[in-house]
Order: sequence, then C-alpha cells, then structure tokens
Amino acid sequence: MLVDVHTHIGYVKSFAWNLKGYVLARLEDLLDYMNTVGVDWVIVLSTPGYSDQFSRIVSNEKLLKVVGSDSRLVPFCAPDPHFSKADKMLEKLVKMGCKGLGEFKVDLKIDDERVLKVLEKADELGLPVLFHMEDDKYFYDIDALDRILERFRNSVYIGHGPGWWKHISGIESNEAYPKGNIVKEGKLQELLRKHDSIYADISATSGLNALKRDIEHAKKFLVEFQDKILLGTDFPCLAFDGSQFGPNMHHINFLKSLELPSSVLEKILYKNAEKIIEKVI
Ligand SMILES: [Zn+2]
Repeated sequence: MLVDVHTHIGYVKSFAWNLKGYVLARLEDLLDYMNTVGVDWVIVLSTPGYSDQFSRIVSNEKLLKVVGSDSRLVPFCAPDPHFSKADKMLEKLVKMGCKGLGEFKVDLKIDDERVLKVLEKADELGLPVLFHMEDDKYFYDIDALDRILERFRNSVYIGHGPGWWKHISGIESNEAYPKGNIVKEGKLQELLRKHDSIYADISATSGLNALKRDIEHAKKFLVEFQDKILLGTDFPCLAFDGSQFGPNMHHINFLKSLELPSSVLEKILYKNAEKIIEKVI
C-alpha cells in the first residue's frame, strides 16, 4: 500500500538545467503515475491564485470538478488570503467536496491577519492544512508557527518546503537546500516533539535533501517521528536532474534504502496519511 500526500495537476516550470520550459500533467497523467508506481491514493493539492509565478496548478472549483468522485483522489483547496472572503470560500469549497486546506503557499507571513482568518476557518471546520514554507517568500517565520500550532488545535498541520526542512538543523543557513551533517537539532524537531498536530511531508527536493544530507541522522529522525512523517513527491514537479518526482521514485527508493523497521516504513508510506484523512472523509 502506498499513499502520496503531495501531488498536483497542471503546469509546473522546470528548474532542471537539462530541461527548459513547462511540464503539463493532466488528470490522466496523474492516474498513469499512480498505476505505474502502484500508488493507491493521493492528495491532490491546489495553490492560491497568484502566489506562485512559476506554476499554473488546477485549483479549487476547477480541481474539484476534474477530480470528481474518484475515491483515489483526495482534493485539497487553497483560497487566496489576499481576497477578503477567502474564509467563506473555503467553507463553500468544503461543501463541494474539498477535504483540506493546501497547498497553502501564500506570499505572506504566517501570522498575517489575512492568513490567520483562513487558518481559523480551517480550524473551525477541522480541516488538515498542508503548507509550503520558504524564507521571506511563502508562509514564513518558523517561530510564529509555534504560536499558530498553540492557537489552532483542531487542524492537523503538514509542513513542507525549504523554509520548513532547513530547520532540521540548528545551524542557521541562508541556503534553500543546506548540505552537511546535522550536528545540532533544529526547530523542526522541537516543534514535532512539542505539538501533536504537526506532521511533515518529505516531498520535492526540500524533504529529500533534509534527509539525504545526513543518512544516519535520517534513520534516527524517521524512527523517532514515525507517527508524523508522510510520503509525498510533489508530482508533476521536476528534480534538478530533469526527472519527474513521483515516476522517478526518488522518495520511495530512498526510504526503502534506509532499511527501517517495516512497521516504521508502513506508517510513513501510508498509515499516517490514512489516519489524517479518515477524520475528514
Ligand atoms: Zn507542491
């Protein structure tokens, strides 16, 4: 059994040196990836309106329409907090079939009033929130995240992105994908230990890099936080080598290479995702 908690449908820009332009993945391409790799079900994420100039992700009403009633596809929506009625829109989308808030990739600080309004609605509705964190760009300020988790206790939060995963190390770095062994634990471990409601998805380059930079640390980390780590890929985004996350199996193969106890691997590959989603279905 396999669950990918981080997928999209739509156009994404390539940042690979050997592939220029955009890649388009339609619903049939997502299903093709799932069938080829053996993924049982996925979370399909929206992104808020104009937050990301490098992609055109099928989102919200359009996504709900495309996904339809296929139970292998769990749609999350992401109304744009720049619009004053984003909270009401989220409520409407939930009535139409949306199961969570995400990918919450917002070009505002985490504790901006406009962001808080949407998070408050998600909390009221008991929706899981999958967020993309990136320094000075998207949903940023790891210290403020602590206060958010303290305040909104009814939502499960799933962390993703370079501004989240870089905090696996306590050594400050301005790089998006810092390398090197973890000699001092960071805020990420602190938050995972402190709050029951925070999870992490290992998708894209950010999650994989944070684990690969120190394999021995990764094993200990995944065992300690076995109840909170989720397999995700960020399909149809591309890795720096030009291959496509999901079909390239980078995340699954890496997890399998660590020889983790099978009970730990099962939780990361699907059981933790089931636990989160069964509450909202
Ligand atoms: Zn994504």
